[in-house]
This record gives sequence, C-alpha cells and structure tokens, in this order.
Amino acid sequence: MYKAFLIKYAEIGVKGKNRELFEEALVKQIKYALKRCEGSFSVRRTRGRIYIDVLSEYDYGETIGNLKTVCGISAICPMVQTQDKGFDSLCQTVTDYVDGQYPKKSFSFKVQTRRARKNYPMDSMEVNAAVGEKLLEKFPQLCVDVHKPDVMIHIEIRENIYIYSTEIPGPGGMPVGTNGKAMLLLSGGIDSPVAGYMVAKRGVKIDAVYFHAPPYTGERAKQKVVDLARLVARYSGPVYLHVINFTDIQLAIYDKCPREELTIIMRRYMMRIAQEIAQKTGCLGLVTGESIGQVASQTMQSLAVTNEVCTMPVFRPCIGLDKQEIVELSEKIGTYETSILPFEDCCTIFVAKHPVTKPNLQVIKRHEENLQDCIEEMVQKALETEELIIADV
Ligand code: ATP
Ligand code: MG
Repeated sequence: MYKAFLIKYAEIGVKGKNRELFEEALVKQIKYALKRCEGSFSVRRTRGRIYIDVLSEYDYGETIGNLKTVCGISAICPMVQTQDKGFDSLCQTVTDYVDGQYPKKSFSFKVQTRRARKNYPMDSMEVNAAVGEKLLEKFPQLCVDVHKPDVMIHIEIRENIYIYSTEIPGPGGMPVGTNGKAMLLLSGGIDSPVAGYMVAKRGVKIDAVYFHAPPYTGERAKQKVVDLARLVARYSGPVYLHVINFTDIQLAIYDKCPREELTIIMRRYMMRIAQEIAQKTGCLGLVTGESIGQVASQTMQSLAVTNEVCTMPVFRPCIGLDKQEIVELSEKIGTYETSILPFEDCCTIFVAKHPVTKPNLQVIKRHEENLQDCIEEMVQKALETEELIIADV
C-alpha cells in the first residue's frame, strides 16, 4: 500500500550553514539502515525534506523497524502514492485511503495540502476545501476541526501525488557521524548499552572497550558483550569493540590492595586503559553506564575518585536515571533481553562484601603504590594483546 515515506527530522533543521552536512549524514544513515531491508529503495533530498521511494516489493514491518533505528529521524510517514489523473481521481484515492486506514469513522480531521508543483490547476486552499467536502459526503460521521484535528490528512502535490496521515516516531536526535566519536566502556550489564545508545542519538559514533577476565569470565560472557555491541550498532553504525584481557591486572589488585577497595581501583585501571585506546583511535571522550548512587562504586565520592585518572571528558548519560528508567530504555532499544542473560561479569566475581562507598583519593593512591613494580608492564601487555572485533548488524 505504501510506496514512499516522508522522513521528518527535528533539530537538524535548525543548523544554519551546517544543514547540508547534517542532511547528507542523515541520508547516509538512512541508506545504511535500508541496506538491511529486503527490497530496493531510493532516498532523495529535496527542499529540506527527505523522501524514500520504494522501487520493488518490500517488507513494511522490517523497513519501519530499521528506519526506527536511524538517529536524527523524528518521524516516519508512510505515504500512498498516486499519479495525477485529475481531481476526481484524487478524491477517490483520499477517500479509499481514509476508509482503509481508519475502520472507525468517528474523528475530526483537517486536510493540509502542499503544492510543490505550482502548475496544478487548483491552489492548496481549494484542494483542502474540496477534498474535505468529499470526505464529509462519503463519511458523514466525520467532522472538520481546523485547530486541533484528531487526524491531519496531508496531500503533497508533486510530479505524483502523495497522501499520508500517520507519523511513526523515530529516535530523534542527530545523525551519527555529525558529532565525533567516543569510547564506550561496554560491560554485559543493562546500563552501558543504554549509555551508548544515548550518545549515538546525539550524533556520536561509538567505539567500545570490554574488559574480559578469563577464565573467571567465560566465552559466553564475552559473546554477550559482542551481541550487545551489535544491538548498539543498529543505532550507531559498526562498533569497533576492543576486548582487553584484564585478568592479570585484576589478580594483582586482588593480591596487593585492600579487598574493599578492589572495585574502585579496578575501575580506575579500566578508565586509564579505555582512555589510552580512546586517544589512539581518535575518540573525544569516554562513555559509561554509571548512575549516581546505583552501587558502591557509583556514589559521588567513588565517581570522583574514578574520574580522577581521566584527562578526557567522561560522559555518563544515565547519571540521573533510576534503574527502572534505564530498564525501560533498554527494553525500548532492544538490549534488555540480552543484558539480563545470567553470565558472570568480572566485577561480580571479585566483588567485596563491603566495598568502600566513600573512598578517599589519597588512601586509594597510596594503596595503588603496592602495584608499582608490576602494573605498568601489565597495562602495556593488556593493550598489546587486545582483540579487535567489528560488531555490525
Ligand atoms: P552495567 O549495567 O553497564 O554493567 P553496572 O550497573 O553493572 O552497569 P558497574 O559494573 O559498576 O555497573 O559498571 C559501571 C560502568 O563501568 C558500566 O556501566 C560500564 O560502562 C563500565 N564497566 C563495568 N564493567 C566493565 C567491563 N567489564 N568492561 C567494560 N566496561 C565496564
Ligand atoms: Mg556491570
């Protein structure tokens, strides 16, 4: 039924001179999403609007599903397309459309015509009035409301004529690639994939790092992270996932530092290593799934101590969200089911019964000195032995 889609975008419409670049980036991301769909499509940009024309048979549900992952799209409007065969034929197409689309005919409507082809024999006001009249004739239960209609019936007159009245929400935000790149610390949990999505939604390309601790964390735990990276890649584009073997570092900390400071010191080493990879790969910041107070390592004091090792900005998009809100987002973006698979992560294995909740930076630094003779070498080795996985959909 739908042979075309109108793509609406919000913020990128107001970027002045950069608008071209933003629109091009959006078109590129739309094409990337459509490549995953059966069928053939063409994407066009004309006068500040983006249209997708369907050129073959296609799967409507799959296409909408993939378009809903394109950051920068605020809404997807499926359009019925018809050739211009005179006004009566147009009215027939609109009444058929309304009939098929709305089984219950008790709503108010307004017809909104946009005439891109100026040689059409009627102007938009005339089309609005005349089509409205025809609709009321055919469906007397309908009524017109020009201020707050339940249904806005759009008619676009170009070479062909397009009709649409529904808007399927997209993620909003900005097209990926318009705001640099960041390094996501991706664990197998619920929060970090959501954090990655939220940053991608602001136009940021994502690379990721996962700290793996074999044999304490198994292959399945790693596979779960790869799967999560793939799910994030639906929104962000391909994710370069750096898998770092963290076992030696973790064991050294376990061995040489107070048990209740293990997590905080471990997190400081994760940040140091992530930052090193980020600098080498052109990332402009780090991203974590931390949220204030969620666990001992995420109190304000703990976050301050963890943050102290970073010179790069650290973005924590979940910082003010409650767990339930993060869960809802992860359900929305489709990562929840994978995140809750019960594979151990390296934090849970070594975790102390009573971790510090108000770590003192000077004390932590003093205890880190216990690692002096081995840690630099271990960090270098971890960096040198990284495994790079390209996670793509
Ligand atoms: P998540 O659900 O994202 O795992 P969490 O509630 O389990 O978060 P922590 O385990 O304290 O919280 O981790 C806080 C943040 O540190 C994570 O959101 C993630 O960004 C990062 N992180 C934790 N463990 C790892 C890991 N093994 N590899 C990479 N990053 C990690
Ligand atoms: Mg975790």
